Amino acid sequence: MFNQPVLKQIVEKIKEYDTVIIARHQRPDGDCIGASLGLRALLRASFPAKEIYSVGKGKAEYLDFLGSEDVIDEEKYQNALIIVVDTANHERIDDDNYNKGAYLIKIDHHIITDNYADLSYVEEEAAASCCLIVKLWQANLDVLKMTDEAALALYAGIVTDTGRFRFSATDGESLELASMLLKYQINTEWLYAKLYLKDQEMLALQGEVMRKFKATENIAYVHITKAMQEKYNLTPEESANVVNMLDCLKGVLAWVAFVDQKDESIRVRLRSRFCPVNKVANNYRGGGHANASGATVYNKREMNKLLKELDSVVAEYKRGNTGWL
Ligand code: AMP
Repeated sequence: MFNQPVLKQIVEKIKEYDTVIIARHQRPDGDCIGASLGLRALLRASFPAKEIYSVGKGKAEYLDFLGSEDVIDEEKYQNALIIVVDTANHERIDDDNYNKGAYLIKIDHHIITDNYADLSYVEEEAAASCCLIVKLWQANLDVLKMTDEAALALYAGIVTDTGRFRFSATDGESLELASMLLKYQINTEWLYAKLYLKDQEMLALQGEVMRKFKATENIAYVHITKAMQEKYNLTPEESANVVNMLDCLKGVLAWVAFVDQKDESIRVRLRSRFCPVNKVANNYRGGGHANASGATVYNKREMNKLLKELDSVVAEYKRGNTGWL
């Protein structure tokens, strides 16, 4: 069913190496942790004699229920195959040693900006990197063995990166791939409770976001300051989730959460419907997908400049798309 030659090539490469190390991007999300731990479980079950590791420096505690990553010595990289998942550019790889292996493979679904690997399997339209790992499995059913543990991690990645099968990248193929995983032991009620239940501080922050957000006729935005994070005892990572709250305003095609970080930088989470916004992110040390991008700014002046640019990108899009919006 999935017969791209690269899917076979990747497994041929895996066969060649005794050690496989899987790396992923900084500030890990459900899709990159799911792809890394899912691929690790798939390979461990399929190649019990090999050493298979998942590595990464930054953590995302809310995903700990999927399993923990490995801490390994630098010498393990010698003669190892390195597979980097879900990471468009080498600067974002959350591993200092990723280029110390013998061969480097990239598996990703972001827009190609950097060909850092010896072999790349990138599908820019795929809903999640976890979809690509499921395709790797399907193309190599004679070699790769799916397990309940792998299926849970991969399903979690697809669920989170598609916003529970709601974002526009969700297509027939991603639903089909997800349905293949549901044939394994996955308690979806438990999974959704792990991923989406909030504590009271988060709900209180959401109340403040509802009161404080600002909007023009094109865009909406909110600034999650350090003071707000301290008031509700939330980390920058936790409070950044509020971006999705601004997704339901009529007329507004793009929305932004600015989140103060501990190091004085301000994380920008940029989302949109219909109108691509990743070019705006590119102008502010960022990038990403057409409708979901990230960037970094350093002060109010840059925040306002970004908002002005975004507003005119949306206004321009609306002018060129009258009648159906
Ligand atoms: P986030 O808002 O951090 O979830 O990011 C949304 C999307 O943009 C994700 O797919 C990220 O991989 C991508 N992204 C975020 N920050 C950056 C960056 N600095 N450079 C390139 N891509 C990014």
